[in-house]
Amino acid sequence: MTKNNTNINSLVASGILSLEPYQSARDECNVQEDSYTFLDANEHPVPSKVNRYPDPYQTNLRKQIASTKGIPVEQILLGNGSDEVLDLIFRVFCEPGDNIITLPPTYGMYRVLAEVHRVAVLEVLLTAEFQPDLASILQNTNYKTKLLFLCSPNNPSGNLMDPKIVRELLDTFPGMVVIDEAYIDFADAKSWSALCGEYPNLIVLQTFSKAYGMAGIRLGMALAAPQVIGWLKKVKLPYNVNVLTQEFASKQLLQIDAIKASIALLQNERTILAETLKEISFVEEVFPSDANFLLVRFQQANETYKKLLEKGIVVRNRSNLPNCSNCLRITVGTPEENKHLIKTLRSLQS
Ligand SMILES: *Cc1c(COP(=O)(O)O)cnc(C)c1O
Repeated sequence: MTKNNTNINSLVASGILSLEPYQSARDECNVQEDSYTFLDANEHPVPSKVNRYPDPYQTNLRKQIASTKGIPVEQILLGNGSDEVLDLIFRVFCEPGDNIITLPPTYGMYRVLAEVHRVAVLEVLLTAEFQPDLASILQNTNYKTKLLFLCSPNNPSGNLMDPKIVRELLDTFPGMVVIDEAYIDFADAKSWSALCGEYPNLIVLQTFSKAYGMAGIRLGMALAAPQVIGWLKKVKLPYNVNVLTQEFASKQLLQIDAIKASIALLQNERTILAETLKEISFVEEVFPSDANFLLVRFQQANETYKKLLEKGIVVRNRSNLPNCSNCLRITVGTPEENKHLIKTLRSLQS
């Protein structure tokens, strides 16, 4: 197997390699334990759950994630949702004048962040089967191309990217390959993070927002080679994951079996929902899904969207995205919510 021989250092934006990150006093003297008297950070001295700044390196939580997921702790960086991690990736690799490649239809934040960072977006559409077009991606790549975003399973189409194509891209793409695995726990596939040691051009994103059921605490992560984690760590704000989030996530991870059971339940509901949707007269197609949502093509998506809203059901209208004409994206809910949706759709059949 040929490994990508891009010089990864050369992809980093100017100034980042030599950047001296912010250091707190507790970094300088390397103390965290409670036995010290902390008069260094102008915190309020009266103890409460939150009077102290959080651990900037989230040491305990990262160790716990490392052992839960079987990933070396040096390959993990935590952020305030994977959206923050995405922003860090732009800060490390991109400067105005650079460009990135996205594969629509896909997650909207890649484009938004590119625009915020004054970076051009080259869009290479997924094929009709929602797979990356390898030749076209490489054709559109130039010396200013820093990042390629692969979302697998893809939002909004729900499918995994073909592993052969992903592997080819890892081997040949001359920039960083970011694989967004926000929905990986709903799929019967291994995470690409197992290859982070082999491919320094790979960054895998995962999140606590979907399968782990903690969208409200804002916790996401980058999984990458230690060198890449080092750059992301340099540019992140020191206290980016707050005390309450670190504690809550840590506590929930002790119940990993319950989390896995809830994932199995949602996978089962996904199957039932897909089958029942296919029986609705004005449903044209239910796309196969490896995620916790279904992309569904209706006869008239805008009208169905409005009627559902009138009945108090909110779904995501994706019909303006390429290859998604007349498509709504529907999240798999509880068994009761899914029954309610089906019942409502049936009532709309003439
Ligand atoms: C939901 C989602 C995320 C999650 O973002 P967080 O900031 O971690 O909540 C990331 N990527 C994709 C494709 C998503 O659909």
